[in-house]
Amino acid sequence: MQFHVLTIFPEIFASPLAASLLKKAQEKGILSCTVHNLRDYATGRHRAVDDTPYGGGQGMVMKPEPVVAALEGVCQSLTTPWRIFLSPQGKMLTQAKVAELAHRETLVLLCGRYEGVDERIRLFVDEEISIGDYMLSGGELAALVVIDAVARLVPGVVGRHESVENESFSHGLLEYPHYTRPEEFRGLLVPDVLLSGNHAEIAMWRRQQSLLRTLQERPDLLAKAEVTEEEKRWLAQFKTENSSQ
Ligand code: SAH
Repeated sequence: MQFHVLTIFPEIFASPLAASLLKKAQEKGILSCTVHNLRDYATGRHRAVDDTPYGGGQGMVMKPEPVVAALEGVCQSLTTPWRIFLSPQGKMLTQAKVAELAHRETLVLLCGRYEGVDERIRLFVDEEISIGDYMLSGGELAALVVIDAVARLVPGVVGRHESVENESFSHGLLEYPHYTRPEEFRGLLVPDVLLSGNHAEIAMWRRQQSLLRTLQERPDLLAKAEVTEEEKRWLAQFKTENSSQ
Protein backbone atom coordinates (compact mmCIF):
# COMPACT_ATOMS: atom_id res chain seq x y z
CA MET A 1 0.00 0.00 0.00
CA GLN A 2 1.34 3.40 -0.96
CA PHE A 3 0.37 6.78 0.43
CA HIS A 4 1.40 9.99 -1.27
CA VAL A 5 0.67 13.24 0.52
CA LEU A 6 0.60 16.70 -1.06
CA THR A 7 1.06 19.50 1.46
CA ILE A 8 2.74 22.83 2.09
CA PHE A 9 3.76 21.58 5.56
CA PRO A 10 5.64 18.29 5.05
CA GLU A 11 7.21 18.60 8.50
CA ILE A 12 3.84 17.83 10.14
CA PHE A 13 4.14 14.24 8.94
CA ALA A 14 7.59 13.49 10.31
CA SER A 15 6.84 12.27 13.82
CA PRO A 16 3.49 10.46 13.31
CA LEU A 17 5.10 8.42 10.52
CA ALA A 18 8.21 7.71 12.60
CA ALA A 19 6.55 5.97 15.55
CA SER A 20 4.76 2.76 16.46
CA LEU A 21 2.75 0.75 13.90
CA LEU A 22 3.24 3.12 10.97
CA LYS A 23 7.00 3.14 11.46
CA LYS A 24 7.19 -0.66 11.73
CA ALA A 25 4.97 -1.20 8.71
CA GLN A 26 7.20 1.05 6.61
CA GLU A 27 10.31 -0.75 7.85
CA LYS A 28 8.76 -4.10 6.93
CA GLY A 29 7.94 -2.71 3.48
CA ILE A 30 4.21 -3.30 3.92
CA LEU A 31 3.47 0.33 3.29
CA SER A 32 5.21 3.44 2.10
CA CYS A 33 4.38 7.09 2.75
CA THR A 34 5.86 9.77 0.54
CA VAL A 35 5.28 13.40 1.44
CA HIS A 36 5.51 15.90 -1.41
CA ASN A 37 5.92 19.63 -0.86
CA LEU A 38 3.40 21.57 -2.94
CA ARG A 39 5.80 24.49 -3.00
CA ASP A 40 8.17 22.45 -5.19
CA TYR A 41 5.50 22.65 -7.90
CA ALA A 42 5.00 26.40 -7.62
CA THR A 43 6.61 28.69 -10.17
CA GLY A 44 7.62 32.33 -10.05
CA ARG A 45 10.13 34.14 -7.94
CA HIS A 46 8.25 33.65 -4.68
CA ARG A 47 6.96 30.15 -5.37
CA ALA A 48 3.56 31.30 -4.16
CA VAL A 49 0.98 28.60 -3.52
CA ASP A 50 -1.80 30.99 -2.48
CA ASP A 51 -3.41 34.19 -3.68
CA THR A 52 -6.21 36.56 -2.69
CA PRO A 53 -9.81 35.51 -3.40
CA TYR A 54 -11.65 36.84 -6.43
CA GLY A 55 -14.66 38.80 -5.26
CA GLY A 56 -12.83 39.98 -2.18
CA GLY A 57 -13.08 38.77 1.39
CA GLN A 58 -10.68 37.58 4.02
CA GLY A 59 -7.84 35.11 3.81
CA MET A 60 -6.00 33.43 0.99
CA VAL A 61 -6.92 30.67 -1.42
CA MET A 62 -4.64 27.89 -2.69
CA LYS A 63 -3.83 28.44 -6.35
CA PRO A 64 -4.84 25.78 -8.87
CA GLU A 65 -1.59 25.63 -10.89
CA PRO A 66 0.83 24.25 -8.26
CA VAL A 67 -1.77 21.88 -6.80
CA VAL A 68 -2.75 20.40 -10.16
CA ALA A 69 0.89 20.29 -11.29
CA ALA A 70 1.70 18.33 -8.11
CA LEU A 71 -1.27 15.97 -8.54
CA GLU A 72 -0.31 15.29 -12.15
CA GLY A 73 3.42 15.06 -11.45
CA VAL A 74 2.96 12.59 -8.59
CA CYS A 75 0.27 10.49 -10.30
CA GLN A 76 2.24 10.22 -13.55
CA SER A 77 4.48 7.50 -12.14
CA LEU A 78 1.70 5.62 -10.27
CA THR A 79 -0.37 2.86 -11.84
CA THR A 80 -3.64 3.17 -9.94
CA PRO A 81 -3.67 6.39 -7.95
CA TRP A 82 -6.88 7.28 -6.06
CA ARG A 83 -6.88 11.02 -5.41
CA ILE A 84 -8.51 12.24 -2.22
CA PHE A 85 -8.97 15.86 -1.19
CA LEU A 86 -9.35 16.30 2.57
CA SER A 87 -12.15 18.78 3.04
CA PRO A 88 -14.79 19.61 5.64
CA GLN A 89 -17.26 19.53 2.74
CA GLY A 90 -16.42 15.93 1.81
CA LYS A 91 -18.13 12.65 2.71
CA MET A 92 -17.65 11.76 6.35
CA LEU A 93 -14.97 9.15 7.04
CA THR A 94 -16.44 5.96 8.55
CA GLN A 95 -14.97 2.53 9.21
CA ALA A 96 -16.79 1.29 6.09
CA LYS A 97 -15.08 3.98 4.01
CA VAL A 98 -11.74 3.11 5.63
CA ALA A 99 -12.21 -0.55 4.70
CA GLU A 100 -13.04 0.46 1.12
CA LEU A 101 -9.91 2.62 0.88
CA ALA A 102 -7.76 -0.19 2.30
CA HIS A 103 -8.54 -2.21 -0.85
CA ARG A 104 -6.87 0.38 -3.04
CA GLU A 105 -3.17 0.22 -3.84
CA THR A 106 -2.25 3.87 -3.89
CA LEU A 107 -3.88 6.79 -2.12
CA VAL A 108 -2.90 10.35 -2.99
CA LEU A 109 -3.96 12.73 -0.22
CA LEU A 110 -4.27 16.43 -0.97
CA CYS A 111 -4.17 18.74 2.06
CA GLY A 112 -5.73 22.19 1.87
CA ARG A 113 -4.70 25.23 3.92
CA TYR A 114 -5.81 28.86 4.32
CA GLU A 115 -9.46 29.56 3.40
CA GLY A 116 -9.36 26.47 1.21
CA VAL A 117 -8.49 25.65 -2.40
CA ASP A 118 -9.55 27.15 -5.71
CA GLU A 119 -12.87 25.49 -6.61
CA ARG A 120 -11.51 24.18 -9.93
CA ILE A 121 -9.10 21.85 -8.11
CA ARG A 122 -12.08 19.69 -7.14
CA LEU A 123 -12.30 18.51 -10.76
CA PHE A 124 -8.86 16.92 -10.47
CA VAL A 125 -9.54 14.56 -7.54
CA ASP A 126 -11.58 11.35 -7.26
CA GLU A 127 -13.28 12.07 -3.96
CA GLU A 128 -13.47 14.45 -1.02
CA ILE A 129 -13.31 13.20 2.54
CA SER A 130 -14.07 14.96 5.80
CA ILE A 131 -12.98 13.54 9.14
CA GLY A 132 -15.81 15.19 11.03
CA ASP A 133 -18.08 18.16 11.43
CA TYR A 134 -15.51 20.54 12.82
CA MET A 135 -12.99 22.89 11.26
CA LEU A 136 -9.26 22.15 11.13
CA SER A 137 -6.67 24.67 10.05
CA GLY A 138 -5.35 22.33 7.39
CA GLY A 139 -5.84 18.93 5.79
CA GLU A 140 -2.63 17.45 7.26
CA LEU A 141 -4.10 16.02 10.46
CA ALA A 142 -7.05 14.70 8.46
CA ALA A 143 -4.65 12.99 6.05
CA LEU A 144 -2.85 11.40 8.99
CA VAL A 145 -6.16 10.14 10.35
CA VAL A 146 -6.88 8.51 6.98
CA ILE A 147 -3.37 7.01 6.80
CA ASP A 148 -3.57 5.62 10.35
CA ALA A 149 -7.06 4.17 9.99
CA VAL A 150 -6.42 2.64 6.55
CA ALA A 151 -2.94 1.32 7.38
CA ARG A 152 -4.15 -0.75 10.32
CA LEU A 153 -6.43 -2.71 7.97
CA VAL A 154 -3.56 -3.59 5.66
CA PRO A 155 -2.59 -7.20 6.50
CA GLY A 156 0.58 -7.35 8.58
CA VAL A 157 0.41 -3.81 9.96
CA VAL A 158 -1.39 -4.77 13.18
CA GLY A 159 0.25 -7.86 14.69
CA ARG A 160 -2.60 -10.30 15.06
CA HIS A 161 -5.17 -9.64 12.40
CA GLU A 162 -8.06 -10.66 14.62
CA SER A 163 -7.46 -7.71 16.94
CA VAL A 164 -8.56 -5.52 14.06
CA GLU A 165 -11.57 -7.71 13.28
CA ASN A 166 -13.18 -7.45 16.71
CA GLU A 167 -12.77 -3.75 17.24
CA SER A 168 -15.44 -1.13 17.64
CA PHE A 169 -17.29 -0.36 14.39
CA SER A 170 -16.02 -3.48 12.57
CA HIS A 171 -19.39 -5.18 12.88
CA GLY A 172 -21.24 -1.95 13.45
CA LEU A 173 -21.04 -2.28 17.25
CA LEU A 174 -18.80 -0.77 19.91
CA GLU A 175 -16.25 -3.11 21.43
CA TYR A 176 -16.68 -4.93 24.77
CA PRO A 177 -14.73 -3.67 27.85
CA HIS A 178 -11.15 -4.81 28.45
CA TYR A 179 -9.44 -5.64 31.75
CA THR A 180 -5.90 -6.55 32.72
CA ARG A 181 -4.06 -7.18 36.01
CA PRO A 182 -4.60 -6.53 38.91
CA GLU A 183 -7.80 -8.44 39.68
CA GLU A 184 -8.78 -5.73 42.16
CA PHE A 185 -7.94 -2.06 41.64
CA ARG A 186 -9.07 0.45 44.30
CA GLY A 187 -11.90 -1.87 45.22
CA LEU A 188 -12.97 -2.31 41.59
CA LEU A 189 -13.12 -5.95 40.54
CA VAL A 190 -12.61 -7.65 37.21
CA PRO A 191 -15.90 -9.38 36.21
CA ASP A 192 -15.87 -13.02 37.41
CA VAL A 193 -16.67 -14.44 34.02
CA LEU A 194 -13.33 -13.22 32.63
CA LEU A 195 -11.49 -15.20 35.32
CA SER A 196 -13.59 -18.33 34.77
CA GLY A 197 -11.57 -19.78 31.91
CA ASN A 198 -14.87 -20.71 30.23
CA HIS A 199 -14.32 -19.51 26.68
CA ALA A 200 -17.90 -19.92 25.52
CA GLU A 201 -19.23 -17.91 28.44
CA ILE A 202 -16.57 -15.25 27.98
CA ALA A 203 -17.46 -14.92 24.30
CA MET A 204 -21.16 -14.60 25.17
CA TRP A 205 -20.48 -12.02 27.89
CA ARG A 206 -18.35 -9.98 25.51
CA ARG A 207 -20.99 -10.05 22.81
CA GLN A 208 -23.66 -8.93 25.29
CA GLN A 209 -21.44 -6.15 26.64
CA SER A 210 -20.79 -5.01 23.12
CA LEU A 211 -24.54 -4.86 22.42
CA LEU A 212 -25.30 -3.09 25.69
CA ARG A 213 -22.53 -0.57 25.29
CA THR A 214 -23.72 0.27 21.79
CA LEU A 215 -27.29 0.60 23.05
CA GLN A 216 -26.19 2.95 25.81
CA GLU A 217 -23.52 5.02 24.07
CA ARG A 218 -24.37 4.90 20.37
CA PRO A 219 -27.94 3.67 19.81
CA ASP A 220 -27.75 5.17 16.31
CA LEU A 221 -25.29 2.40 15.33
CA LEU A 222 -27.62 -0.44 16.30
CA ALA A 223 -29.99 0.10 13.41
CA LYS A 224 -27.29 -0.81 10.89
CA ALA A 225 -25.32 -3.35 12.98
CA GLU A 226 -25.12 -7.11 12.41
CA VAL A 227 -27.47 -8.24 15.19
CA THR A 228 -29.43 -11.52 15.29
CA GLU A 229 -33.18 -11.70 15.96
CA GLU A 230 -32.47 -13.31 19.32
CA GLU A 231 -30.11 -10.48 20.26
CA LYS A 232 -32.69 -7.90 19.21
CA ARG A 233 -35.23 -9.55 21.51
CA TRP A 234 -32.69 -9.62 24.33
CA LEU A 235 -31.92 -5.91 23.87
CA ALA A 236 -35.62 -5.02 23.74
CA GLN A 237 -36.15 -6.91 26.98
CA PHE A 238 -33.20 -5.13 28.55
CA LYS A 239 -34.62 -1.77 27.48
CA THR A 240 -38.07 -2.43 28.98
CA GLU A 241 -36.61 -3.80 32.23
CA ASN A 242 -34.40 -0.74 32.62
CA SER A 243 -36.94 1.88 31.64
CA SER A 244 -39.39 0.63 34.30
CA GLN A 245 -36.83 1.06 37.09
N1 SAH B 1 -13.14 27.58 4.18
C1 SAH B 1 -13.17 26.17 3.96
C2 SAH B 1 -12.34 25.44 5.00
C3 SAH B 1 -10.89 25.70 4.93
S1 SAH B 1 -10.00 24.92 6.22
C4 SAH B 1 -14.61 25.66 4.05
O1 SAH B 1 -15.43 26.27 4.73
O2 SAH B 1 -14.90 24.62 3.46
C5 SAH B 1 -8.48 24.62 5.43
C6 SAH B 1 -8.25 23.19 5.00
O3 SAH B 1 -8.28 22.35 6.14
C7 SAH B 1 -9.27 22.60 4.04
O4 SAH B 1 -8.98 22.92 2.71
C8 SAH B 1 -9.13 21.11 4.30
O5 SAH B 1 -8.06 20.56 3.55
C9 SAH B 1 -8.75 21.06 5.78
N2 SAH B 1 -9.87 20.70 6.67
C10 SAH B 1 -10.49 21.51 7.57
N3 SAH B 1 -11.44 20.85 8.24
C11 SAH B 1 -11.43 19.58 7.80
C12 SAH B 1 -12.20 18.41 8.11
N4 SAH B 1 -13.16 18.42 9.04
N5 SAH B 1 -11.92 17.27 7.43
C13 SAH B 1 -10.94 17.24 6.49
N6 SAH B 1 -10.20 18.31 6.15
C14 SAH B 1 -10.42 19.47 6.78
